[in-house]
Parts: sequence; structure tokens; C-alpha cells
Amino acid sequence: MTTAAAVPDLASFVDGEWRRGGRQASDTNPAHPSEVVAQYALADAETATQAVAAASAAFAAWRATPAPARGEILRKAAALLDERAADIGRDLTREEGKTLPEGIRETQLSANILRYFASQTLDPDGDMYPSSKANVLLYTRREPLGVVSVITPWNFPICIAAWKIAPALAFGNTVVWKPAELVPLTAANFLKTLVDAGLPQGVLNLVLGKGSEVGDVMTTHPDVVGISFTGSNAVGRALQAKAAAKGKRVQLELGGKNPAIVLADADLDLAAEQVARGAFLAAGQKCTATSRVIVERSVLGGLVDRLTAHANGWKLGDPLAPDTIVGPVVSEQQLGTVLGYLDRAKSDGARVVAGGGRADGDLADGYFVKPTVLSGVKSSDTVFREEIFGPVAAVIAVDSFDEAIAMANDTRYGLSASIFTRDLGRALRFADRIRSGIVKVNSETAGVEYHVPFGGTKESSSGSREQGKAAREFFTEWKTVYINIP
Ligand code: NAD
Repeated sequence: MTTAAAVPDLASFVDGEWRRGGRQASDTNPAHPSEVVAQYALADAETATQAVAAASAAFAAWRATPAPARGEILRKAAALLDERAADIGRDLTREEGKTLPEGIRETQLSANILRYFASQTLDPDGDMYPSSKANVLLYTRREPLGVVSVITPWNFPICIAAWKIAPALAFGNTVVWKPAELVPLTAANFLKTLVDAGLPQGVLNLVLGKGSEVGDVMTTHPDVVGISFTGSNAVGRALQAKAAAKGKRVQLELGGKNPAIVLADADLDLAAEQVARGAFLAAGQKCTATSRVIVERSVLGGLVDRLTAHANGWKLGDPLAPDTIVGPVVSEQQLGTVLGYLDRAKSDGARVVAGGGRADGDLADGYFVKPTVLSGVKSSDTVFREEIFGPVAAVIAVDSFDEAIAMANDTRYGLSASIFTRDLGRALRFADRIRSGIVKVNSETAGVEYHVPFGGTKESSSGSREQGKAAREFFTEWKTVYINIP
């Protein structure tokens, strides 16, 4: 247990200064809810307004800073993140609940993301065109937007922040960042690496506040040009409507209800292990988590048996313990949501094959949900239609490849989807016909690389992509220059 003296006292960071004071809030450990990981001062709308003003004032100089020099600061921050990865990863685990190796890997991944976008500051930022007129030099450049609001969720508290903030800064924007209220310590740790790497005052401002209190300033302030948001559909769509009415550019990454199809010819050991990873790791709290398992009937029993063995065998426990594979869900509210879905599934007639509820015994105090396998699910069941964000795999049997694809596509979401088969033709037909932004063959729906576009179709996304070369599209705008040479 942490002693009171060791509890960090956090605050928003505006115009190069920590803004302490005001209402205090506690950041607690989901594995041991009585343990306070940090205290923090809740920002109000005035603090958010000051953050926008600071970002606005810093924009001209940051935009004029040569792109490679901006990249150099990101590279230094990456080195600091690597140096601090063990501590930052541990803080992440203590406030969010993913296991320690996952927390450290996420921190290291974020360092790689910073380096990747640093390297993009050396890429061409425009094109030269032949003009149809004599003596005209015709070229285009991608220029920064200005002040960008970045709003992030708690489930990947450092890496989603990195994959938005790194391209925003690399391409010359200044940023006001609001992380989720559940992860202020990881947010402060990430901000410090960028500040310690030499980021000038006002270029990145951190607002530790509630969405209901600071959200409107961040999305509708006249000086905010763009908003990059990752989180729930309800919040994202409401924010998009308000921001669009003010003419802002909005990028949304939202929920998922990701299917894994297991065909009769699949390697069942591989399929079960990958489905279990997608469904249970990080307690199922990934937008790309596997949630619907669609299995050809002839291998239903074999797949369910194997999946159940993983659900029962993978150690649920304190995420700091070395043998833990699955940690708690993030909060009491999230626990209530997941347990509510399990109750609903049972009343809809699903059969609980593994897990099915909250852990007891030594884990009774924490927000632990047992890895759960549900079979006998119907495609109309709530548990098969709505995002759960917990360690739950809902299994359904189908009679053909075509039925599997139709069922996989029968959702309002379209983030990630996978298929398990040895048939190359069917794998390729799946990749063609599935309506999702990410497609996996013979691997879990979760797990992505940062140098390729990331995002979903349908209601999972606003359409614009993050990461890879695609990130530049959101964070810059074109300028077309005609120079008539006398
Ligand atoms: P959430 O929508 O509750 O919160 C996301 C962020 O929005 C938080 O910082 C929150 O404080 C802020 N917010 C809340 N109300 C706001 C308002 N009125 N104005 C402005 N900001 C406001 O989501 P969450 O619970 O933190 O995260 C879980 C959700 O995120 C899941 O639905 C998950 O699928 C989704 N997610 C999507 C992706 C993706 O890339 N598609 C990745 C991770 C998580």
C-alpha cells in the first residue's frame, strides 16, 4: 500500500505552469479501491479557457519552428519515456488496472510512436505541380491547423494520447489535452516527458477536468480549430454535433463490437488462444477487443472447450503480481456495467460456460470480473449487440461461411474483425466482404501497429484515420501556391 506522503498531488498544466487549487479529486487503484494513487485538482471551464489562450499564443512560434526541430523534441521525449518506462508503466497499472507488462509495453510503444512521428517531420510536406501557364511555379504545402483539442479515454491512457499528440505537435499544431478523469497520473507523467524534452511553454496544455465541465470550452471555443476524440459513441457524437455547428474539424474514434469468425477448417488451438487474448486481456477493455465469436457448428464444442480452458486457467488477480494475466476492470461504474450485461445475458437465455460474475475471496474488494464465456447466445441478444468493455466472449454457432460473414456485418460498429481458417480463398473473401476498418486473419481482433492507418467504418469512427501516414490528413490543411515569375 502507498503511504499518504507518497501520493502525488497533480494539477492541470497551462502555459508552462501547474495550476493547483480548486476542487480536489482522488485517483484510486481498481485492484484495491481504498488505495489512493494520486490526488488532483479538478480544472474548471476558466482553466480550460486559459489553456486554449496559451495554446493560441504559442501557435505562431511553434508553427515557425522548423519541422525537424519539432521532431527532435519528440525524439528526446521518446528517450525519456524509455528511461522512465518501468515507473510510468507501474503508475499506469496502479491507476488503470492492466497488468504491469502491459503497462510498461504501452509506455514503450508510446516512445516508438513519438519517434515515428518525429521521423515524419523529415518527410515532404507538399507537392510540386506543372502549371498550365508559362512561368508559373505551382506547389502545395500541408500546414498546421492551429489549436487542436485532444480528448482521450482511460483504456490506453498513454498510447492513444501519444498517437494524437505526437502528430499534432510534429505537424506544427498546439494542443489542449483532456485525458479521462480516471488516469490523471499517467497523463501527468506523459506530459512531463514532453516538457522535460524541451517543449516550449504553451505548446501542450493539460486540462484535468470533467468532460461535463471543460468539454464545451474544448470543443466550441472560437480559437479551437480541430478536435481529435477517442471514447464512447454517446459522448463523441454529441461533441461532434456541437463542434460541427461551429465549423470545427472533428475526428472521432468510438466503440466496437468486434467479431472473430472460426471456420471448421481452423487451427482450433490457435483460434481459441487468440480469441481468449482478444476477449480477456486488459479485462476486455479495448475498443478492438473480441466480443462476438461466430463459430461453424461442427467445431463449436471444440472451440468452446478450449476457450473455456483459457478463461478458467488464466490468472485473474492484482495486475502488479508477476503471474497475473487478467486484471480488474477500471472502476466501480465499469464493474456495474459489465455485471449488468452478464445479468441481461443470463435472463436472455445465454449459458455461462466460464466465469459469469464478479470474483470473490481475496479479490472481492477490487473490481474483478471473471473471464466469461457465454454460449447459446442469439444474435438479437443485447450481449451480442452492445459494446460491453469487459472480459466477456459471446459465442454463437452458424452453418456456413456466408452466414458467418452476414452475422459479423450485422452490427452498427465496424472497427476490427478477424477470421480463423486455413483456406486462403475464404480468408481473402472475408477481407473483401467484412465491413470494418481493421481485418485480421488467424489472429486476435486487438493489437495494431502505429505506422499504418487505424480506425473504423460505420459508427466506430468519423471516417478519418489516425496513425501512419494518414495522421497528417487530420492535423494539417492544404495550401496551394501559384507564383507567377515575371
Ligand atoms: P468516454 O466517452 O466516457 O470518455 C472519453 C473522454 O471524453 C474522456 O476524457 C471524458 O472525460 C471525455 N468527455 C466526457 N464527456 C465529455 C464532454 N461532454 N465533452 C468533452 N469531453 C467529454 O469514454 P471512456 O469510457 O473513457 O472510454 C471507453 C470508450 O472509448 C469505449 O466506448 C471504447 O470503445 C472507446 N474507445 C475507442 C477507441 C478507438 O480507437 N475506436 C479506443 C479506445 C477506446
